[in-house]
Amino acid sequence: MTRVPGLPVSPGVAWGPAALMLERHPVMRCGIAAANVERERGRLDRAREASATQLRAIHARVAQQAGADLASLFEAQLLMLDDDLLVPRARRIVESDRVNAEWALDRAFDQFCAVFADVGDDYLRERRGDVADVVGRLRRNLRPAGSGGGAPAALAAPAVLVADELAPSFAAQIDPAMILGVAFETGSRTHHSAILARSLGIPAVAGAALVTTYIRPGTLVLVDGDAGEVVIDPTPGVVEEARRRRDRRAAGAAPPRARPSGPVLTADGAAVRFLANIERLEEVEAARAAGAEGIGLFRSEFLLGGRAVDACDEEAQYGVYRDLVERMAPHAVTIRSFDIEESQASGRADAEPEAGSRARGPLGLRAIRLSLGHREAFETQLRALARASRHGSVRVLLPFVSSVDELRSARAALRSATHAVQGTGPELTAMPVGVMVEVPSAALTVDLLAAEADFFSIGTNDLIQFCLAVDRADRRVAGLFDPLHPAILRVIRQVVRLARPRGRPVAVCGEMAADPGALLLLLGLGVTEFSMSPAAIPEARDLVRRVTMGEVRRAAARALSLPTSLDIAALLAARFPALASWPLGRDGRPHMEGHS
Ligand code: PEP
Ligand code: MG
Repeated sequence: MTRVPGLPVSPGVAWGPAALMLERHPVMRCGIAAANVERERGRLDRAREASATQLRAIHARVAQQAGADLASLFEAQLLMLDDDLLVPRARRIVESDRVNAEWALDRAFDQFCAVFADVGDDYLRERRGDVADVVGRLRRNLRPAGSGGGAPAALAAPAVLVADELAPSFAAQIDPAMILGVAFETGSRTHHSAILARSLGIPAVAGAALVTTYIRPGTLVLVDGDAGEVVIDPTPGVVEEARRRRDRRAAGAAPPRARPSGPVLTADGAAVRFLANIERLEEVEAARAAGAEGIGLFRSEFLLGGRAVDACDEEAQYGVYRDLVERMAPHAVTIRSFDIEESQASGRADAEPEAGSRARGPLGLRAIRLSLGHREAFETQLRALARASRHGSVRVLLPFVSSVDELRSARAALRSATHAVQGTGPELTAMPVGVMVEVPSAALTVDLLAAEADFFSIGTNDLIQFCLAVDRADRRVAGLFDPLHPAILRVIRQVVRLARPRGRPVAVCGEMAADPGALLLLLGLGVTEFSMSPAAIPEARDLVRRVTMGEVRRAAARALSLPTSLDIAALLAARFPALASWPLGRDGRPHMEGHS
């Protein structure tokens, strides 16, 4: 039995055979028939050819832009590509072991590394990195075009998904009935895959370093989403304890209550609205049952499920949006335009980054930047939204806006899309256009944006990431992701103040709103509309009823003068008896992101 610590990102406990999803190291071993040996060898040859073509192009480009010295690195990689220890050896392994090309290449690489491990020469040892680079390229070229790589085939039986990197687009393709629990090496609580696991009620652990290297497909694995731990080959005793815990939780689950409706009133009568964040159409029922007064955030990119940005045509999108609107009627539905990264735009998670860019990262070409660059796909989405607006109330939400220029360009695209739809059916009424406040430049210019936006929604997941310089996908800095950081309170107060003169509503749709202590703070800072996962709404509604606006305003005013998030958490815990069950950790801070 091996225990791998991680971050608890979705509560509950689950166990079962592991299904591996390896984005970085596709190493599935498949036995092959003798008749398929040539096919697998052919795949290796084609991957080698494609790699050589790419390396020659990179070499020429680098030689021209950065000089011959640097370019020689790629000359060396081209030579490695032809080394007898790599592709030719992998070809031999395909035949001798009767295995797939990927597995054979991996074995060849292992043997290659073993040889180099014994070499005393530092220079030669360092070349191992270059070989790994070449092997990575070969692996990518072994994948079928557009596959995005790494995803396990449809599961035959329920399993625990263990992944190195769980891209949200792949997570979205998962059949929840087949996934018992999820463990992945990267990420944190606000990673989209973690958010999705919570909304599906699947226990999950993120940031479980190197977990995929300890697990083979089929290994019994237990995911403890309460403690933040992955247990490999758990003993019968550990499984039994988990079973008791799961049963207790099921027995203690609150019986379904009468569906609450309408705005919630604080103890002194102020109205507070709760809306739902959803990623999938199927969540509408849960949103309604939780008393959501609408959808505050529909993450439309989950429709793509990792496919290219133009994979979901207008008709298909219209069908989903219309369904959503009709099922939520009479409430409004806020649909966010695709918030994807560059690698997803082409549907190739493994696509080569452009020269001078990074393959991934939260600061690159994503969300509205990408939509404006893929104008056709953007207008397709906007046309689908405009058509859906004939069936109910649709609001358009723009992610990652960082300037008024972007808002104007997006509005121009919307005008063109609306124009195309106008005249094809009943008269269209203008859809309100909102801006996600999740980039500091937007937060600081809400007054300017307010002149041209109809509403705002603060995305604290990204806003905190950018204000505190903490990559939400990097488990190593997850402990620094601090929603109660004084800077975060100040920036939110500022957004509320800047939006006020024009009377633009400001909601919070990031995960911060789902934390009881932070919720009261946000209320005290002047936010009265919250959007969160349906599962978090009932508790939030109950909490708000038990406090007065005077209390929360005073607490927020005091919190704004405190120097650390620890002080702020202590203040909240002391002032609000209703927070008695607020899960404060041993360090006195709430069990929010990074404090677990
Ligand atoms: C946010 O950034 O807070 C947000 C709600 O958007 P997402 O989590 O989808 O980035
Ligand atoms: Mg965001």
